Amino acid sequence: MHPFTYTKASDTREALDSGRRGGRYIAGGTTLVDLMRETVERPETLVDITGLPMRAVTATTHGGLRIGALVSMTEAAAHPRVRALYPVISQSLELSASAQLRNMATIGGNIMQRTRCTYFRDVTAACNKREPGSGCAAREGHNRAHAILGTSDRCVATHPSDVAVAFAALEATVHLLGPDGERRVPFASFLLRPGSTPDREQALRKGELITAVEIPALARPLRSGYLKVRDRQSYEFALTSAAVALHVRGGVIREAKVAAGGVGTVPWKLPAVEEHLVGERPSEALWTAAARTAADGARPLTHNRFKVELLRRTVERQLRIVGGTK
Ligand SMILES: Cc1cc2nc3c(=O)[nH]c(=O)nc-3n(C[C@H](O)[C@H](O)[C@H](O)COP(=O)(O)OP(=O)(O)OC[C@H]3O[C@@H](n4cnc5c(N)ncnc54)[C@H](O)[C@@H]3O)c2cc1C
Ligand code: SF4
Repeated sequence: MHPFTYTKASDTREALDSGRRGGRYIAGGTTLVDLMRETVERPETLVDITGLPMRAVTATTHGGLRIGALVSMTEAAAHPRVRALYPVISQSLELSASAQLRNMATIGGNIMQRTRCTYFRDVTAACNKREPGSGCAAREGHNRAHAILGTSDRCVATHPSDVAVAFAALEATVHLLGPDGERRVPFASFLLRPGSTPDREQALRKGELITAVEIPALARPLRSGYLKVRDRQSYEFALTSAAVALHVRGGVIREAKVAAGGVGTVPWKLPAVEEHLVGERPSEALWTAAARTAADGARPLTHNRFKVELLRRTVERQLRIVGGTK
């Protein structure tokens, strides 16, 4: 581990000042400390933000929900409003990591976590994300767990967060606070596809803090849920996953929100699947037909061709679980 200085911010202003001077925020530390031990990350100053007032889950005036950036994964999953209104969020969190990690880790840190690409974590391997211009060992290497959607010739790594898939499906907004004030970024533009700059992963400006994630008010009743397919039943990242939310009224699907994980360089929203569903009556045939579009545009690599069919089946199964069988 490289030497660093540590400071605990006593208020938001102090945190932002340190951030502006290049300090690196640390919340639960469950990802950052790992990466520092492996010398993938080498921050000179760590700014502990755990004392800041960003720990509340609150209802918004329009009927949505605001989850503070420092709310732990455990607290967010168990919160009565989250459970009642957005089961897809609770389920995605409960299927993440381990109980110990979820107790420490925060919502802000979760969406900021970096890829689990093994070459990214191996400082002897070529990796454009870790060291721009060095190449991508995964392209011709062992790429079974890598992305089939949103890739570039520079990087094919997946975004590993589960709850980010639920946020993408629900069209959440990320609240940011920086030296220039507050701003809001739609979740769809917060995490960046690799393109020619895979080292730029989020739309954060220097020194900006995530303060909260806001889920919009959606038509109710809203049925929702998260399905995660992985190599073993627990403590494992997704090979594929699906977040689905459906509003059905009068026997017709009025709103559909669908996104996939484990397959994209960012959580992958599925507008073609959503369009297929809206205005239709739930049926087995509908779930199958809509899910056939889930992998449109996929560009599989040598070892992950299986993800194309697995993605379609994951989406179809989760549509059936959430939407019912008729
Ligand atoms: C063994 C293991 C298994 C895991 N399995 C899963 C899994 O199945 N699914 C899943 O989704 N995740 C999984 N994770 C990842 C885990 O969820 C993340 O480590 C955790 O959510 C990160 O939160 P944290 O608060 O500890 O972040 P930290 O490690 O403190 O920070 C992570 C990053 O976020 C930045 N950051 C933190 N808070 C803010 C903020 N408010 N504003 C701006 N920047 C901020 C930090 O600067 C740092 O870059 C796993 C992790 C481990 C170690
Ligand atoms: S896929 Fe991305 S993170 Fe993995 S080695 Fe290639 S450039 Fe690095």
